Order: sequence, then structure tokens, then C-alpha cells
Amino acid sequence: MPVIDFESLRKILELEHKKGYSDSAVIGGMDKFFRQWADKTVTQITDRSLLAKFHKLYLRDNKYAALSPEQRQAWVKTILDFAALLESGKPEKPAPVREITAKPLKTPSAKTPVVKSPAAKSASIQSLDASITTIKGISTSFALKFGKLNVRTIRDLLYFFPGRHLDYSKMKTVSQLQEGQEETIVANVWEAKITMPGGRRSTEVIVGDETGNVRAMWFNNPWLAKILTPNMKIVLSGKVRLFNGRFVFESPEWEPMEEGDLIHTGRLVPVYPLTEGLHQRQTRKMIKGVVDLWAGQLTDFLPNEVKSRCQLIALPQAISQAHYPDNIDLKDKARVRLAFDELFLLQLGVLSKKRDWQESQPGTPIKINEKLLDTFLQSLPFTLTRAQQKVLNEILEDMQKPIAMSRLLQGEVGSGKTVVATAALLLAVADGYQTALMAPTEILAEQHFATIHKLLSGLGHLQKQQDHLYIYSGILPRPVTIALLIGATTAKTKREIHQLIVNGEIDIVIGTHAIIQKEVEFRHLGFVVVDEQHRFGVAQRSTLRQKGTNPHVLAMTATPIPRTLALTIYGDLDLSVIDELPPGRQLIKTKWLQPNERERAYNFIRKQVAEGHQAFIICPLIEESETIQARAAVAEYEHLSQEVFPNLKMGLLHGRMASKDKEKVMQQFHDKELDILVSTPVIEVGIDVPNATVMMVESADRFGLSQLHQFRGRVGRGPAQSYCILLSPNPSEVGQERLSVIETVFNGFKLAEEDLRLRGPGEFFGTRQSGLPDLRMAKLSDVALLELARREAERLFTQDRHLKNPEHALLVKELARVWTTEIEELS
Ligand code: ADP
Ligand code: MG
Repeated sequence: MPVIDFESLRKILELEHKKGYSDSAVIGGMDKFFRQWADKTVTQITDRSLLAKFHKLYLRDNKYAALSPEQRQAWVKTILDFAALLESGKPEKPAPVREITAKPLKTPSAKTPVVKSPAAKSASIQSLDASITTIKGISTSFALKFGKLNVRTIRDLLYFFPGRHLDYSKMKTVSQLQEGQEETIVANVWEAKITMPGGRRSTEVIVGDETGNVRAMWFNNPWLAKILTPNMKIVLSGKVRLFNGRFVFESPEWEPMEEGDLIHTGRLVPVYPLTEGLHQRQTRKMIKGVVDLWAGQLTDFLPNEVKSRCQLIALPQAISQAHYPDNIDLKDKARVRLAFDELFLLQLGVLSKKRDWQESQPGTPIKINEKLLDTFLQSLPFTLTRAQQKVLNEILEDMQKPIAMSRLLQGEVGSGKTVVATAALLLAVADGYQTALMAPTEILAEQHFATIHKLLSGLGHLQKQQDHLYIYSGILPRPVTIALLIGATTAKTKREIHQLIVNGEIDIVIGTHAIIQKEVEFRHLGFVVVDEQHRFGVAQRSTLRQKGTNPHVLAMTATPIPRTLALTIYGDLDLSVIDELPPGRQLIKTKWLQPNERERAYNFIRKQVAEGHQAFIICPLIEESETIQARAAVAEYEHLSQEVFPNLKMGLLHGRMASKDKEKVMQQFHDKELDILVSTPVIEVGIDVPNATVMMVESADRFGLSQLHQFRGRVGRGPAQSYCILLSPNPSEVGQERLSVIETVFNGFKLAEEDLRLRGPGEFFGTRQSGLPDLRMAKLSDVALLELARREAERLFTQDRHLKNPEHALLVKELARVWTTEIEELS
């Protein structure tokens, strides 16, 4: 067993102590160091209770950088205590208190910034991260309200961008004013008085310039009459209305002319996304002050080379132009610069993560048994497509490397991903490793279990079968065991399977996320397949990674994701694409029917069934809960079986059914005992019934294109011509557009791109699931900028893989800052 590296841990912690817990003992920050140390160490702890304690230290998802020096000291002590415990190897013995923790904390040096760089002015960095209450004029209650908007520090405020700008930049004279337009004038106040239109005390002012006079009204605002005194020169911006044949500004923005820069008028004026109790005028004024004073203090972390190559403006300028742009062009340039930063840092973070886990822990090189592979491929009733072969080769190449594979396999529904994955699983098993296959739903896990059973049966024969456990002989010199582990598995069977897994007696575990629950411990997990990757969060992926000695991970998805987007969101993964379907696959005729054509659809289904085929009917999508969804499905099922298809055999499938029942219905449908299967959208992925020829989708406009495409992929898996019927009582405009796209486009990647265009990435993935940071300026639909950021990040990594180059010091610091916040948000 390799030895745990206490020496480096202790040395660094001692240094960190000497430096007053200033997070400066290692370049790149303590968080990264802890993470790496934890990755190295976790596999070498064999004692269960120690392992549990180890996980409780949260070394992998730490946020040291965010702690106060006192908190850091306390935490360092727990880590040292734990290390001592590990070293002693006796979990029961109380840990000795390490000597260094007893020393007093040197407070002065605790204020040193994380990374020292000649260019970083430590004083200003300090103040940028100071609370906004240190700004003159910001009261605690004001600060509290900003806290609700996640604005706490001066830096936060600089990055608190307006949602939009009002264009008051074009000055007019009174004679040039036009009704209904947003206009700006510079004028003299002639007269200001309180009036009572509709009984509301309001201010009415007459202003004018050399071309004429105009009225301005502020309703419910009598106190302005006191402020706007005759002969005062003011700027007015707002909408001009016609009232009794004369122009009037209704509640315009205004400010005195002589007070330095204009804030509310006469320019592009920011409008901030505020919360209750915060007002635009007050906020604008405050932010203008902060931007003027502090934007210049921001150190630009982007290397000059990148900036000039990408023609990006400097950071301080970008920040101030994002708030108070001099003109539209600069406003756009500011957005581009800040959006680039977000995407670039995102890419760098993802690439660093990948680098770290690749370097921190050697992967397990798996020897490929060519002979077994050949035998397996021979045993299949078909030959792999060129694309399958190519992808399989990519996977096999990865598996043989001493670096853990992290690959995303994309391929349309039915493109044959499962076969490829099974080949890889089998080869890992042949080399003596345990493997796992995770699916997003129980039905899918069950189906994978059945599929793999079928595939292995061609190779060896089933020697023993009990509950959720199949044992084969004739594949390898030893028996090969596969197990199904899902939520519905009885507690007793679960315990037995867990035990067998710990003992290393199960070769392939197939299941839902139940697999990654903590009581499941593998003896030597070497290879993991995650199906429908997009449903798993980053955190789940990394938990899985911790389950074994850094296993190879193959993620599969049938949701085609445009390449750039995939690289952004799953940038730590390599990409493989199966871009062709097995021969003989047909185009599924897709038709969007008008509501009054429903009867036609039902007749069509009757005809298809009469010809011996089967149909799916997807129930209307109801957002709220699976329970409500299930109830709606039951109602639909009853309606259809009693009133529409009384003579046909109907089945029902929904998420609230017991796993056994679901399985039974699926089996019945598969065995042609049912003509029509009514289902909630749970059916979306993976179910394989070759005799089904009709997929009817209710309220089809509610689904995304990719999802509709998934449904469509459920039919056309046999030789008979298949059909997809879309119903939608009254689709929104975007819904209509989607429906006409799906009728004519059959390429999953094209549909994904359309989806992205029509719905935006948030809906496309569910941002939370994807683990994406909150992008404020960047839009994931901005492919060109995404690509630029990706290219630049990769270029930087080829030049300076560990970002050790002094000119990247600021970048490293920014990276640590951005990603730390993100971890906090995720946890
Ligand atoms: P996916 O997981 O990508 O949706 P599957 O691996 O489940 O696709 O394959 C879909 C169907 O196509 C299965 O019935 C499978 O046996 C079959 N299949 C896979 N590869 C081929 C191939 N190269 N030629 C013919 N049929 C194939
Ligand atoms: Mg599949």
C-alpha cells in the first residue's frame, strides 16, 4: 500500500501557520492544495470509520479562502488531528494536539493577500473586498438590502451590472421634441409650483431654452417644487406626451447641469435590477461614486497578449463603461470584455480541474484483451458501424492510459452507444476490475441490465440467476457476475449486493444513483459508465470518482449538445460522437396536427394497431410534481381506454408506480400484450420496443426539440415505417416554431442548436444541474465568444500548464476567487 504523504501536508500547514493563516503557503491557494492532498489520500484510507471522518473534513470541497484567519486556524487543527489519527492507525485513540496549533496566531500577517504579485497593490485589493458599509453614505440598512442581491463588497458592487440602459444620450432643443419619444433637453427652470391634478399633490415646472418652453410634471411628488428653483439649469430626460395639445414631460429623470458628470440624464443611463427599498436614483449615484473611485483600482488579470489578440478593452474601463457607457459602442465592448472574462475563467477552471485530477492521482491502465474483444464483437448479430468502431477505439485508447479517462460519448438515440459501452465494461472486467453503469431512472437501469444480459448471453451462458444477480460462465476463465441495484431492490438484497461489491465479487453493477450512495464501497472500481450524463451534476460525478482508485469514466448522452457548449459545460470531459445510425434506420414521418384533427390521429392509431403494431401516447406535461403528473396520466389513461380505444389493450406507465409494476408494464408492452402504452414523459429515454410504430405526444409545444426528438426515437426501431404525431391545443409562438422545426429536421445536433436558439441554455440543461456558475454578461448562445474563450484558455494551458508563469499570477488569483465562490454557491 502506498504511504500517505503526511510530510508535505505538515510542512505546508506549518508554513501556513507561520504566515498567519493568510492562505499563502502554496501558490494557487490552500484550497487547491487540500483538494490535491485529499485526492491522493482518500484511496489509501482503508478503515471505514477513518474514511467517514476523512469525508467530514470536506477537504475536497473546502473553502479555506473564504474563512477568517481564526476559522482557518481551527480548521487546520482538525486536519492535523486527523492526520495524527491516521498516522497512529488507531481510530479510537484520541488525537494528540499538535504543537504548532498551540502557538499564538500572528494577526498582522493574516492580512496579507493570497498571492503576492508586484503588480497587485495589496492595500487596494484589501479594500476592494471590504464591505460596502465602508463606503461613505452607505448605511447598514442600505447594505442589508444590497445583501439580498448578493452584493456585499465593493468588488460585488463593481460587478453588479445594470440590466439595461436608457438612452438619454441625444440632446434636443425644446423645438425638436417629438411626442412619444424618450427625449433629453437642457433647460432653464422658469417656474416651479405644487399642483393638484386628480387630487394628488404634484410638482409642475415650466422649463425652456432659446427655442421654446415645455412643461414637466412629477405626480405625487410635491417636494421637487422646493428643489427646482427658478433660473436653475437642469437636464431632463424622459418620455414626451401630448396633453391638451401641448408637450409635457411626465415624471422625467432630472439633474442639475453643473454638478460634474451626468448620472440620470443626458447619457446612457443605467437601470439596475433592484430589490424593494432600493431606488434607482440613489443607487445610480452611489454606484457612480464607487465606479469612479474604485474601477481604476481593479488590477487587470488578463495577460496583455490575450487582451490584444482578442481586442479586448482593459478591465477598469470595461467596468466603468458597463455601468456608465460613453456610447453604445463602448457599452458593447465592455460587455464583450466582461463576458469573455466569465467564459475564459470558466474554461480555465474546468481545464485546471481536469489537470489536477489527472495529475493528483494516477489512473488505472487497463490491459485490453484483444481476443475477448474480437469474440465479443463476433458474437453480436451485427457489425459495428464505422462511427461505433471509431468511438470504441477512442475509449480503448483512453482506458490503457495511466490517466483516468473522462469522456463524454454523444450519440443519437439508437446509434448504438450501449453496445460500445458494454464492450469497454467487459474489457475492464477481463482485466480484473469492477465496473459500474449508472442510469438516470430505474426503468433505464433495468433495461440496461436486460440489454447487457442479452449481449453477454451471446458470449457465455447464464450459470446462475437470483433476484438481481446474474452469473455467467464461459466468458472468462472465472465466472462473471452482474448485479442490478436500484431503489426498489429490497433492503435485504441490497445488503447482500453491497457485501458482494465490497468483497469484489461483482463485476458489473448496474443501477441508478443508488450506486453512488455512500454505503456502496467497491473493492477495485476501475471503470464507470454514466448514462444520460446531463442529468447528473458535477458533484455526483466527482463522488463517483472517489468511489474507486480514480476509475475511468465514460459518460453517455443521447441529447446532442452543440460541441462548443458541451466543451464549456463538460469542459473537463473529452468528446466522442457517434454520428451515424446503424444501417436501415428509417426517417420517422412527423406530423403536427391541428386540435380538430385529434380524431384523425386516433383513427390512425387504430389502423396501425389493426396492422399488428403498437403505439405510445405521451401525456400532457404538467410541471409541478411527479404525483400530479401521475394523477393526470391515470386520468388520461382512463379516458382513452374507456372512451377512445375501448377495444384495445392499454397500459399505463408513470413515475409513481412501483418499479416492479413499471417493469411489468414495459415487459407486457415489449411482448405485444398491450397495444397502446400511455406514459408520462418518463419514457423519454432509452426504452426499446421495435414493434411500436406510433409516438403520439400531447401538448407537444411544451417540450424542447431535443426532448421531442428523444420521444420520436422510441419508434422506428423495427423494420416498419413509423410515425410521430404531435398535438398541441394552443402553442405559443416559440412553441409553434419548434413544432414546425421538428417536422422537417431529423438531425439531433441541428435540433439541439435550434433548441438552444429558441429556448436558451438555461432551459436546455437546467443550469443548476450543469453546475454552471452564474454568468452575468456571457450568453451561452454566443458561440463565437465561447469559442474564442475556449481557444484562448487552451492556448494558455499549452504555454503554461500549471499557470506558474509570474505574468499569470493575477489570473491564478482571479481564478481562485471565481471558483471558490462557485463552490460556495454549489454547496
Ligand atoms: P443507444 O444506447 O445509442 O440508444 P443502443 O446501443 O441501445 O443505442 O442500440 C439501439 C439498437 O440498435 C439496439 O437494439 C442494438 O442492438 C442495435 N444496434 C446497435 N449497434 C448496431 C449496429 N452497428 N448495427 C445494427 N444494429 C445495432
Ligand atoms: Mg441507450
